[in-house]
Amino acid sequence: MSQATIFSVNAVARLRDQREEEGIKPIQARGWRAPRCRACRVIESHCLCAWRPQVETRSGVCLIMTNKEVFKPSNTGWLIADVVRDNHAFIWSRTEVDPQLLALLADPQWQPYLVFPGEYVEPARVTNSVATDIGKRPLFILLDATWTEARKIFRKSPYFDRLPILSLLPEKLSRYRLRRSTRSEHLCTAEVAALCLDLAGDTDAASALDAYFDVFSQHYLDAKHQLDMNVSTPAHAELLPFVQGTPPQSPIL
Ligand SMILES: [Zn+2]
Repeated sequence: MSQATIFSVNAVARLRDQREEEGIKPIQARGWRAPRCRACRVIESHCLCAWRPQVETRSGVCLIMTNKEVFKPSNTGWLIADVVRDNHAFIWSRTEVDPQLLALLADPQWQPYLVFPGEYVEPARVTNSVATDIGKRPLFILLDATWTEARKIFRKSPYFDRLPILSLLPEKLSRYRLRRSTRSEHLCTAEVAALCLDLAGDTDAASALDAYFDVFSQHYLDAKHQLDMNVSTPAHAELLPFVQGTPPQSPIL
């Protein structure tokens, strides 16, 4: 089921569609034969589409991705693009830059922040808070790639050199991990985006994205392990206020 028509465009989905039209195919992963929903990438029996939240956001996001990441069903940049209405996504290339990315960075309505750990950047460029000039909205540029790739993108993209670096403070990160009982050492892109939205005062969008990410993980893993879809989790309850209409209930067992 897809409710895509009532939502804004998901720039990551658009990139995937473009790549497929160009004949670029994803690398076949285990389990790739299971039919996946085109709109949410989850195996059809566990489709997430009815759970896509709708929230207003002042902030925008711009995802810089690798080709591989665009096709990964587990990519979480996709979820950010589902939640944040003003979303943009570009495939990174070392040798060329999309003129639309440069136009976006130069657009006076936006105040871009490149989100990156501050310890790798000269201190003068680093900020830990979001304070936009009057008439501007924050635009978070997120490097949606592995850490090795993200460092390479950071080093080899001169058009990012003039941008301020938004670095999330360690105490903010650890508070976030504690609140969400996140066990992994690195936050995924959707979690980083939720923290940025929170810093910018887009607290509804931050909560919706956190809950949506948890719900996605649940559907994704339940489908992978061939478990029945369970929509009675705390994350579903958290997400519900942000969802329009009535999402389908768990099958009665
Ligand atoms: Zn779906």
